[in-house]
Amino acid sequence: VILGIGDDAAVLAPSAHPIVVTCDTMVEGTHFRFDLSPPRLIGRKTLAVNLSDVAAMGARPRAALLMMSLRSDLERASFDGIAQGLLEIAYEYDAALVGGDTTRTAGPVVLSVSLDGEAMSEPLLRSGARPGDRVYVTGALGESALGLRILLDRPELAPAHSEVVARHLDPTPRVAVGLALTEGRLASACIDVSDGLVQDAGHIARRSGVSMRLELDRLPRSAAFRAAAGALGLSDWLTPLVAGGEDYELLFTAPADRRVPESLAGVPVTKIGECHEGLSGEVTLVASDGSELALTRKGWEHF
Ligand SMILES: [Mg+2]
Repeated sequence: VILGIGDDAAVLAPSAHPIVVTCDTMVEGTHFRFDLSPPRLIGRKTLAVNLSDVAAMGARPRAALLMMSLRSDLERASFDGIAQGLLEIAYEYDAALVGGDTTRTAGPVVLSVSLDGEAMSEPLLRSGARPGDRVYVTGALGESALGLRILLDRPELAPAHSEVVARHLDPTPRVAVGLALTEGRLASACIDVSDGLVQDAGHIARRSGVSMRLELDRLPRSAAFRAAAGALGLSDWLTPLVAGGEDYELLFTAPADRRVPESLAGVPVTKIGECHEGLSGEVTLVASDGSELALTRKGWEHF
């Protein structure tokens, strides 16, 4: 960054590496609520979801722009909290906030970030998976979805399940993992899990022209996930696990002969399935007895 906030526009130095650019918007009432989240965490998450996209490309975050549409009745403290949280996480991930724009609105608060990053090696794309590649995921799945369920349905459980609640309100973008994947030339394709495991696996499968089989027993379910599912009395834990979304873990594929370590940048990595030839974009969940699971109107069914 040659010049940050203060002029008509920021000035960035040219890079020897490919630049990746992304933007993501959070709308009050749709993506966040002031009664569920402190403003500071809303600010953190607004940048975190963009950091996660840059991580999924295997790039190093560089410069961010912040666009805010604010209600005139929004308290000054809320604005300050959002700004504080955003600057805090920008510092943690070595990204610079180089500019932005603030407007007044009669509608809900809208927070939008545009972030760029440098792909130090080749950018990681969704389209590189091949039949025979193994499928991996970082960290644990479903915690964010259960955290949201607790906040909405059983807020009295939040203190005892603060880990899953934090996973929803203050997700951790896997930037160091993305860089390790691209530096080690480990991954053939990569995506961050924002929509839910099955849907995001489908994005890789479709772009790569493969199908995927994911083994149910291998999907990483943390102790915190199990405890929260138990406290909520969930009969169906599979839906939050594979379709909950907002995990912000990295889902990637790698050729079968590539040695993928059990953890990358301190984050556990789990092998969960395999890519195959066949119907492009199809993702199948396989139970331990070999039966296949499909989501029907009545829930998950073996067939
Ligand atoms: Mg993404």
